[in-house]
Amino acid sequence: MQHSAPMPIPGHIDPVPVPRAITPREDGRVDLMGLMREQIRAELAEKGLDARQAKLRSKQIFHWLYHRGETDFEKMSDLAKPMRGWMAERFIVGRPDVVEAQVSSDGTRKWLLRSDDGQDYEMVFIPDADRGTLCVSSQVGCTLNCRFCHTGTMRLVRNLTPGEIVGQVMLARDALGEWPKGSMAGGGEDEADDDAQYSPDGRMLTNIVMMGMGEPLYNFDNVRDALKVVMDGDGLSLSKRRITLSTSGVVPMMARAGEEIGVNLAVSLHAVTKDVRDEIVPINKKYGIEDLLAACASYPGANNARRITFEYVMLKDKNDSDEDARELVRLIRKYQLPAKVNLIPFNPWPGAEYECSTPERIKRFSNIVFEGGISAPVRTPRGRDIAAACGQLKTASEKKSRAELNRLAAEKEAALG
Ligand code: SAH
Ligand code: SF4
Repeated sequence: MQHSAPMPIPGHIDPVPVPRAITPREDGRVDLMGLMREQIRAELAEKGLDARQAKLRSKQIFHWLYHRGETDFEKMSDLAKPMRGWMAERFIVGRPDVVEAQVSSDGTRKWLLRSDDGQDYEMVFIPDADRGTLCVSSQVGCTLNCRFCHTGTMRLVRNLTPGEIVGQVMLARDALGEWPKGSMAGGGEDEADDDAQYSPDGRMLTNIVMMGMGEPLYNFDNVRDALKVVMDGDGLSLSKRRITLSTSGVVPMMARAGEEIGVNLAVSLHAVTKDVRDEIVPINKKYGIEDLLAACASYPGANNARRITFEYVMLKDKNDSDEDARELVRLIRKYQLPAKVNLIPFNPWPGAEYECSTPERIKRFSNIVFEGGISAPVRTPRGRDIAAACGQLKTASEKKSRAELNRLAAEKEAALG
């Protein structure tokens, strides 16, 4: 499995190239989930289909996988019967395992998922009046230790694969019962509210934010490949305008994100002075505020119709003064950024050393930014009661030592004989 080559960054903000231990399935079959058409074609050819067949079948299978949500080859009715059996012997269409599903009193849902090799990660669905947003994870844990973020207290275990990233969207559609009629989507015990249908085709899942666990730009290749599958018009078909990628500020990858993925950009700014940002968003020591804003100014595709969102967590007596608000306006103006500011009330977690700013302070901050000509809504915290709100995600997965990983791999190999 390929990984984006992480940049060498000294100290604890190093993105640690975590190798994806490819866990071969014991039955030798290959999981097609997350593969693009071309990759499916290559897999079929490798297993012996001739070039013409492989091309034709890969198109059909792509459609079944991502448009219909089908996981059972027997139900892929436009494949000849013997072909269905041939596929089932060699391939599977996987989903992440659901360890736990929780529903908040405000309707937010959180799923604890488990990968084939036993790593836990989370995804969150946030239903709103006019949209339904799925918050997707890109890594198990995060290397970036932002001081106010619970995920940052986990040691990164590894990058999620494209299959695991797309798998989250697939699973959400399963659970919400959102595949076209006539397909048998797996899972799906939870029923979607009948009266909560947002998109013209009646689906609730309308938007995706890459704001779950992890720093998406430290897992660039996999996030890009996954989002390409999600945006493909023959499959899940989500518009790039409905997808937002949030980064803590991995400056060297931002232009590529714009060019190769092209989704909306959100930037976790959180502070306007070097001292404070160094403290709360440590990647700032490597890529400072001015470099970050310059990268935003040249982000391909940003304009007044598609603004860059600056996320700003409200921490009491840390980054919430009138002066901070005025400096924020000055910086955004200086770089002439088509921007909006999202003020996020700090979501507490056990052991956090910060407090949320008072509602009055947040209101005042918002007004100053607004008077500066920049929209600055306050994000309503969602799913706090089930620890599903921004920055509250954390699983029990811990980074294993190299020796331990080697031992586990050896055991697995021995078991496979
Ligand atoms: N790693 C990426 C995306 C995931 S975090 C990033 O940092 O941008 C999604 C958003 O939640 C980020 O803006 C993050 O800074 C914010 N966040 C983290 N912890 C938080 C907390 N405890 N309360 C409120 N927002 C938090
Ligand atoms: Fe990682 Fe984002 Fe949390 Fe920072 S805020 S530790 S980058 S997930």
